[in-house]
Amino acid sequence: MIRLESFVSGAWNAGRGDGRPFVDPTTGEVLGKVDASGLDMASAIAYARDIGGPALRAMTFAERAALLRAVSDILAANRPRYNEIAIKNAGNTASDAAIDIEGGIGTLKVFSRLGDKLGAVQMLIEPGSDQLAKDDVFRAAHIWTTRPGVAIHINAFNFPSWGLWEKFAVAILAGVPVVAKPASPTAWLAHEMVRDVVAANALPPGALSLVCGTGEGLLDSVSGMDHIAFTGSHDTGAHLRRNPRVFEASPRLNIEADSINATILGPDVANGHDIDALFRREILRALSVKAGQMCTNIRRILVPQARAKEIVDALAADIAKLIIGNPADAEVRVGPLVHVQARDEAVDKIVALTREAGTAAGGGIPGQARDADPKRGAFLAPTLLAAKDADHLRAVHEIEVFGPVATAVPYRDLDHAIALALAGGGSLVASLFSDDPRVGQKVVSQIANAHGRVMTVDSTVGKAHTGHAIVMPQCVHGGPGRAGGGEELGGLRGLRFYMQRTAVQGSPGFLNTLRGTSAEIAL
Ligand code: NAP
Repeated sequence: MIRLESFVSGAWNAGRGDGRPFVDPTTGEVLGKVDASGLDMASAIAYARDIGGPALRAMTFAERAALLRAVSDILAANRPRYNEIAIKNAGNTASDAAIDIEGGIGTLKVFSRLGDKLGAVQMLIEPGSDQLAKDDVFRAAHIWTTRPGVAIHINAFNFPSWGLWEKFAVAILAGVPVVAKPASPTAWLAHEMVRDVVAANALPPGALSLVCGTGEGLLDSVSGMDHIAFTGSHDTGAHLRRNPRVFEASPRLNIEADSINATILGPDVANGHDIDALFRREILRALSVKAGQMCTNIRRILVPQARAKEIVDALAADIAKLIIGNPADAEVRVGPLVHVQARDEAVDKIVALTREAGTAAGGGIPGQARDADPKRGAFLAPTLLAAKDADHLRAVHEIEVFGPVATAVPYRDLDHAIALALAGGGSLVASLFSDDPRVGQKVVSQIANAHGRVMTVDSTVGKAHTGHAIVMPQCVHGGPGRAGGGEELGGLRGLRFYMQRTAVQGSPGFLNTLRGTSAEIAL
């Protein structure tokens, strides 16, 4: 039986308890245990802050970019082993695993290139300066410097690789040491990756720590200069906000939570149009990729009322062709959820949604699964629901079923579609499929303030779009309200979380001296 350890205070440490089991969700077989109980978290955080912090801050952006490149090379060299773990422990098909693993490696590469561009400096300066005195002898410029704290990263189970490395890339480029806590059900992959990076001696001591376990005590010694970046459910996010030490010390806190993301099919799109096919393809992805376990996934499908039945019928026919089963089989499109408890929770939530929506496809545990027992594995049939009355929906706008489940909602006109999208209370992402720029203009201008990202697809984009659910490192990720109110990535914009902006007042000559030793950039 595998027992995952934690890499803290510069060494691998086993927990003192029995630990929590993690499984192969295809069979229910217990693969190992994860436990960090009894570890001295205060010392672990202090080690990262006091040993890793100064070492990273002494480096330039270009030197830290080289660290990211080294880590991405180590991970790239071990891909096949990581893929096997993702299939076995996360229920990923090969393409699901690639999103997680290649996503992590690719994000590290993007940030290493961004760091190269910043060059051999340790400070950033914003373009321009402001005159503050009548005679032009006193001005202000704004600089950014690395904050002295540690970055505590608490990740969700669905992206054990991408979640770990996308946060790590930004923090390390900024010069902040990382203490990462993967979610217990899928911590194995993160554990193996960090073992490889540690074994290769690729990072300065204290730059990366890993806590495999519940994270008990992780926040007890947090300070006001630290950074907590959390990804997970709304409920856990709310719990962390209420943590007395977090409340008292006021570290920076970034929360990426769940959201009820919508996609809108424009009223201009007719049956048979290219965009109609692209829209349907995207919904099929939402109901199959990573078995629907993506925070950015489409949960509400907003369609013109006049076309609702025809679209739901076409989607149901598409869904019937998806092969559910053992993700090791190359033809399987939908693997299991992360464990049977998650599957049971999803089934309960589908029942709650069916009070407001009929079932057009799926609806629970599938009758059969390729090369697997559908009852022992954590399988959930791709499920399409169709709302009965768009004006009296509550559950559909509030309940996230973390699986291959979405609800079609008919809208009367564009104002109605916009109101329905906004009823999600703040989302990570929305998408619009339309060939009419007036539709695009109206939708984007009216829903942007409730969304972190809006993807628009017209005929000129075609299949070249990167996907409703896919988070690109160049774009900000995070959404307001229900989505947690956080923001990460966005290219160099992500550095803001880990750096301090300071207004420096002084003579134009002195400010120019600072400019000469900084990278100029508007974050
Ligand atoms: P979760 O149950 O909220 O757990 C998230 C993380 O928080 C895990 O590492 C968990 O550790 C940890 N945690 C739980 N209680 C804690 C505590 N008291 N102190 C410190 N850490 C604690 O979420 P999940 O089931 O892993 O992930 C699914 C959810 O995440 C979905 O709702 C999804 O929408 C959301 N999500 C959001 C994003 C985004 O970017 N916005 C991305 C992915 C997923 P243990 O596993 O050890 O309990």
